[in-house]
Amino acid sequence: MKRIALFPGTFDPITIGHVNIVERAMQLFDEIVIGIGHNSSKTTLFPLAQREQWIRDIFASQPKVKVQSYEGLTVTFCAQLNAHYILRGLRNMSDFDYEKNIAQMNKLVTPTVETVFLMCDPAYTPISSSVVRDLIRNGGDATPFLPKEVIF
Ligand code: ADP
Repeated sequence: MKRIALFPGTFDPITIGHVNIVERAMQLFDEIVIGIGHNSSKTTLFPLAQREQWIRDIFASQPKVKVQSYEGLTVTFCAQLNAHYILRGLRNMSDFDYEKNIAQMNKLVTPTVETVFLMCDPAYTPISSSVVRDLIRNGGDATPFLPKEVIF
């Protein structure tokens, strides 16, 4: 059976920290679907189509990596994809507290889906989409934290 993992997130925008998680997870899974969770009532800095295109460009040469947007529950999207794994990255204790609850709840709701956590490589710990957005909004240089394909 093909090991399919869903890597869900907002990716507003995708950072080199996200890319590091996907690259490392490629050793573990046959297919990784980067799922852009879309909630029409939530505002983002970058439009969905733009975020999706960047991810497509970054992984253009990686047939194992796909990108799709979705609305609703992550576990429902897993069922549609036939994905038995949810992939998430952990940077620190606050990520852990937040992720633990969601992973345990997802397991109760859908026992066939396992959440797999990859510990962030130390170089990427301080990088988050929200810090990158703050830099961009305030005229700072976010390029060191962004894949070269992320141009705006
Ligand atoms: P969400 O809105 O669901 O938190 P994000 O796009 O911010 O979506 O993050 C998606 C996933 O990527 C989360 O599991 C998050 O912990 C992980 N992640 C974000 N930044 C990094 C990083 N620098 N290193 C490792 N994992 C990261």
